Amino acid sequence: MQDISLEKDVCVKDGGVNPWRGLWVAAECPDNKLNDIILELIAKGRILADKLDTHVTAILMGSDVSWAAETLIRHGADKVFVVEHPELAPFTEEVYSSVLAGLARRYRPEIILAGATLAGRAYIPRVATLLETGLTADCMDLDVNVEDRTLLQTRPGWGGNLFVTIACPTRRPQMATVRPHVFKKGQDDPRRHGETVFIRLEGEWFLHRVRVIESIKEKAVAENDLYGAKVVVVAGRGVENDKDMALVKELAEVLGGVVGGTRPVVDAGLLPEKLQVGQSGVSISPRLYIGIGVSGAVQHTAGIKGAGVIVAINKDPDAPIFGLSTYGLVGDFRDIVPELIRRIRHKNRRGG
Ligand SMILES: Cc1cc2nc3c(=O)[nH]c(=O)nc-3n(C[C@H](O)[C@H](O)[C@H](O)COP(=O)(O)OP(=O)(O)OC[C@H]3O[C@@H](n4cnc5c(N)ncnc54)[C@H](O)[C@@H]3O)c2cc1C
Repeated sequence: MQDISLEKDVCVKDGGVNPWRGLWVAAECPDNKLNDIILELIAKGRILADKLDTHVTAILMGSDVSWAAETLIRHGADKVFVVEHPELAPFTEEVYSSVLAGLARRYRPEIILAGATLAGRAYIPRVATLLETGLTADCMDLDVNVEDRTLLQTRPGWGGNLFVTIACPTRRPQMATVRPHVFKKGQDDPRRHGETVFIRLEGEWFLHRVRVIESIKEKAVAENDLYGAKVVVVAGRGVENDKDMALVKELAEVLGGVVGGTRPVVDAGLLPEKLQVGQSGVSISPRLYIGIGVSGAVQHTAGIKGAGVIVAINKDPDAPIFGLSTYGLVGDFRDIVPELIRRIRHKNRRGG
């Protein structure tokens, strides 16, 4: 365990490519909780770093976060920089971005990954600006080219009609934010060991323009339920009205799951925007996904890449969703879903 102090504005300005090495995951925890996205990025970062024969470092920032260092190491990090200070709660973009940029200038990682969360979307672009490098936001896939060590960052482009892969060959670090739930968390391996380095912040770190007077927590939002749900029943355009939606909700309820929707369903006002699944909504990775009256457009299926079993109910046997479903039921969902509910209820009653 090491203890290192970091002074503000001590920077090495360097536009060159070498010798930036190592992959970093920004693990900001302003509320002292480790979000799933951080462990998802550690798992993906581990795969990429192994390809590049380099190390994974997590930058753990918050007011009382050192407890999480071991969890990060057990999930794949080689090293954790712990930046712990009471002033790091609440979250302010200015402080978090200058701390991460300051560390990056000093230790020169070649890649920085962060979650495309509310906080990540707010402070990571500032980090990229401070480091005078590129950033690809909202990625849905990542890979590396081992020849030239470039990070291949895939995200929707051209109005969402194509997936584009972006590289940043001439600047370091290469930076990307990644949407939650597109990658899977790694195994918790208690045998893994790593290094923890405590960073002491010295100097003028906390003189910033924003003063948080009060913070009001939003009630647990449905989006979070959707993220963590093991079972998600998605209503597509075939679900036309509140009566249809009641069937979808009932199916979700008997399965102990939650409801999501495709964009047309959200546009029609049948579900709130936060429940939209897909490229411009949320990405989900339930064990069971059931699509009801969903055609399987690429903008929707981009959000269910992490799903386990996919069941599609559609009256059109040629609907594209059948191409990626584990089980397909062809027919009118208004006939199929009540029967499914009846059978599941029967099974639940018998304790099956
Ligand atoms: C930039 C961009 C971003 C987008 N982002 C998203 C996104 O995040 N999420 C998203 O979902 N979409 C998104 N879209 C829209 C996407 O392209 C599709 O239009 C949308 O996913 C289609 O939704 P759907 O499958 O519900 O509707 P449709 O494609 O209209 O399919 C409806 C299906 O229901 C079936 N059906 C109808 N009635 C019944 C019935 N009674 N029983 C059984 N089956 C029935 C039909 O056979 C049909 O296959 C985006 C589009 C763009 C351009």
